Amino acid sequence: MRPARAFIDLDALRHNYRLARELGGHKALAVVKADAYGHGAVRCARALEPEADGFGVACIEEALELREAGIRAPILLLEGFFQADELALIDRHDLWCVVQATWQIEAIERARLQRPLTVWLKLDSGMHRLGLAPDEYRACLQRLRALPQVREVVAMTHFSRADELDSHRTQEQLENFHRVIDGQGVGGSQMTASVANSAALLGWPAIRAQFARPGLMLYGATPFAAPHPLADRLRPVMTLESQVIAVRELGEGEPVGYGARFVTERPTRVGVVAIGYADGYPQFAPNGTPIWIDGQPGRVIGRVSMDMLTVDLDGHPEAGIGSRVELWGNHIRAGRLAERAATSAYRLLCGLKRVPRTYLGG
Ligand SMILES: *Cc1c(COP(=O)(O)O)cnc(C)c1O
Repeated sequence: MRPARAFIDLDALRHNYRLARELGGHKALAVVKADAYGHGAVRCARALEPEADGFGVACIEEALELREAGIRAPILLLEGFFQADELALIDRHDLWCVVQATWQIEAIERARLQRPLTVWLKLDSGMHRLGLAPDEYRACLQRLRALPQVREVVAMTHFSRADELDSHRTQEQLENFHRVIDGQGVGGSQMTASVANSAALLGWPAIRAQFARPGLMLYGATPFAAPHPLADRLRPVMTLESQVIAVRELGEGEPVGYGARFVTERPTRVGVVAIGYADGYPQFAPNGTPIWIDGQPGRVIGRVSMDMLTVDLDGHPEAGIGSRVELWGNHIRAGRLAERAATSAYRLLCGLKRVPRTYLGG
């Protein structure tokens, strides 16, 4: 069998979830969209369900996968529905639903539901992607609250630059949000609100709301370019490993791999590792990209192929066929690799393909 494996540490996942909830101060929806950022949505949701306040997904297909696997906790559709006929499934499976545009309100008005919906009404506070404009938000809120199809409306917005700790934008967006929703609660209380993604939870601890929406941090990766003391408390959940499957002893001046991107400067032992860009490893990781061989730091040399890559075995005299190579995980943090390979931790994790996952920690 091909030795490539992704180990998923469910204890680390629970640890990170608890940190997210502690930082948010109240409840936290664990965002498990895109197959839990490559970690396996069903297994991750099962591991978190006993303590999670709910889950966030991108679409009804992802929500149904969780319901079919027996997940009973609340599930929020982060982009709402794409077509009005999804409302029947939302109703049947008791899903929470974002509303981000007026056509969705019209669809709810026309729908016949068995039980009233929990709606998360999204404000565009400055990201300018999804959400209602500030001048239409309150009218939409009143309209939803007047409907028998609606049980409760939660106020929500999303930050565009919370990972930039020196940007004013997060504070501005938060002020825009409060300008619209303050005083809009029912019976004199504040509206239930949700604003923070991972970067806001870690980087802007003064921002508090009833529901946080952590994604990336649950999986132990940092959203920041620079080291950060709270991000340091995260534990990586995924470790991607494979093995050396062949060793070449090359003389000086010999090219390695496609395009001869690396040429030996002296006699060199080269290890061939069974992992490549078809598994989600970055194709354009440069020469020198860090890896970990049998418990020692090492480096990639030569261009990454579809199914294989090559590493420098000089300095690893004991290494040979069968040596274990960590591509990312506990020693090679996804964020650090992403930076070297001009990609992001989000994309590395979500991009995992073909590699079987092994779950640790039940
Ligand atoms: C994906 C997503 C999140 C989670 O974001 P992270 O940066 O991964 O923490 C939160 N809220 C919304 C609306 C999202 O789409």
